[in-house]
Amino acid sequence: MLDLCFAVLDPGKEVQAENRRQLDKWGVQNHSCFEWLAYTTEELGELSNAISEYYYRKGDRESVVKEAIQVATLALKIAEMYRHIQFLETEGLCQTKK
Ligand SMILES: [Mg+2]
Repeated sequence: MLDLCFAVLDPGKEVQAENRRQLDKWGVQNHSCFEWLAYTTEELGELSNAISEYYYRKGDRESVVKEAIQVATLALKIAEMYRHIQFLETEGLCQTKK
């Protein structure tokens, strides 16, 4: 499959919509980094399953898209949290475990 370089999907729009869906379902969450990783890994497993269903059992394409966007959204939440930690450390507002 060819990398389409986001020519046919708007990642910002898709991730924001998924973020809104997650907030509506779960509210603002506060978890350890390992819990966030576990949730992301769980979504990655669902993506793997959706791809397998599509490839081997005529599963639908949109399930693959949905799961991939869920993985991306959680991964970007982690990125944002770590960027925020960096900001807090730079400002001398917190010290975190290295
Ligand atoms: Mg999922």
